[in-house]
Amino acid sequence: MSSMSGSGGSPVQSQSIGADSIILCRHGTRAALYTSWTIGNRGCRFFRCGVWEANDCSFFQWYDPPFTGHEKEVMTYLVQQKNNMKYKIKGLEENAMSLNEDFKILKEKCEEYESVIKDLQRILEVISKTNQNM
Ligand SMILES: [Zn+2]
Repeated sequence: MSSMSGSGGSPVQSQSIGADSIILCRHGTRAALYTSWTIGNRGCRFFRCGVWEANDCSFFQWYDPPFTGHEKEVMTYLVQQKNNMKYKIKGLEENAMSLNEDFKILKEKCEEYESVIKDLQRILEVISKTNQNM
């Protein structure tokens, strides 16, 4: 299957790119703007062949200047925080699911006990009637 025609994938496009920033890849077609998520360059945007997934001409060019040491540190910290939050949220979701399961089990047990109580009440009634008749 060829995906050469049409939109050519879904790169992370930025609205701030003006008409002055048309960059051509080695295919001679407009390079797509992507955002890097590699360590050290997180959030930096770069141009890349628009059809790299199907037929990469290995064109590459930074759009944003690469980070300085401090920017890298801040970005690494933020990404760590984000990952920590993700991890915590996952834990909370698992807790919620487990609580939901516990709740279901307790509800079933409650219904079970309710029916046992009803049975016992009926038995008690029968016993008390029997006693009155004696
Ligand atoms: Zn290309």
